[in-house]
Amino acid sequence: MSGKRALVCGAGGFIGSHLVKRLRRDGYWVRGVDLKYPEFSPSAADDFVLADLCRRESWERILDRGFDEAYQLAADMGGAGYIFTGNNDSHVMHDSAMINLHMADFGVRKNVGKVFYSSSACMYPAYNQEDPRNPKCGESTAYPAAPDSEYGWEKLFSERLYAAFSRNQGLDVRVARFHNIFGPEGTWRGGREKAPAALCRKIAEQSDGGEIEIWGDGQQTRSFLYIDECVEAVRRLMESSFAGPVNVGSEEMVTINQMAAMIMETAGKKLAIKHVPGPTGVRGRNSDNGLIRAQLGWEPAMRLQQGLTTTYAWIEAQAQSAAGPVRANSGKFLEAVP
Ligand code: NAD
Repeated sequence: MSGKRALVCGAGGFIGSHLVKRLRRDGYWVRGVDLKYPEFSPSAADDFVLADLCRRESWERILDRGFDEAYQLAADMGGAGYIFTGNNDSHVMHDSAMINLHMADFGVRKNVGKVFYSSSACMYPAYNQEDPRNPKCGESTAYPAAPDSEYGWEKLFSERLYAAFSRNQGLDVRVARFHNIFGPEGTWRGGREKAPAALCRKIAEQSDGGEIEIWGDGQQTRSFLYIDECVEAVRRLMESSFAGPVNVGSEEMVTINQMAAMIMETAGKKLAIKHVPGPTGVRGRNSDNGLIRAQLGWEPAMRLQQGLTTTYAWIEAQAQSAAGPVRANSGKFLEAVP
């Protein structure tokens, strides 16, 4: 047992719920906080507070005891269909910034030992991501800033906010820039899902010989990191004295068409692809892991195909299940905070 206490904000979400499981395995006492319980399995948290982290009162309640570590993953976010259409920008910016302002302020006032912040590759300048074969996402290329979405601008603002609190008020922070994290128990339908989950769902729902739609020409490139590898990198960063910001991603870059082919192979189906207009984000993006390799000796071990196989099996089962998501939660909970 580590005997340490951890707070996980966004514990009802994809990465947060996996992180809670890992922290419990590592011997932490964990409090999870979110607007909702995890959708697909009960939270592993010792207690789970339903609360709106945009509200000051919530933080007073949540930080009613000392915490060695806080992991701030709560954000109003989703895949391209959510963050690149422009329709959700005011919520994306307001809610996420508000949560981070409170985290930084309360982190200092309540003496939280260390704070982890989940930034995103979406903060990198669009002008370095126009060539799909050669995108530049090294940490030092962040400025002059030109993210391609308000989501990215908020991430950049919050990175700077935590850096300022570290400089001026001694807040001990760690910042990671996640690059497309995927895996089982991630959102797979409803409009907030990301490319790997959306493609797995589309392929699972079609019979062999059918057709799926892909937004854009499918030549845009990305890399994708399996959830367990992401959680491992986060834990290593928190254990180290290196503050970041640092990329947490895979360097195995593929086009969206290639990823669709990989999932079809896993599914044992051959489907036609129809390219349709839709939000696609930057033309190319890949993680640059030079800094994290040098600082933490970390790099992902798993190939994309392997992660897609596990994820496809989970989404296929979800799509086939008439029962829908699990909503019950067997953990112990504090009373709900409005
Ligand atoms: P997610 O949407 O599954 O989880 C975010 C959680 O935050 C949700 O459960 C949501 O209910 C919660 N939340 C939102 N507003 C809240 C509020 N006002 N009060 C309390 N909780 C609130 O997303 P995720 O994929 O788990 O991402 C976690 C973090 O990592 C986010 O900050 C995201 O921006 C960042 N990130 C994720 C990826 C990725 O590929 N998944 C990539 C880059 C960055």
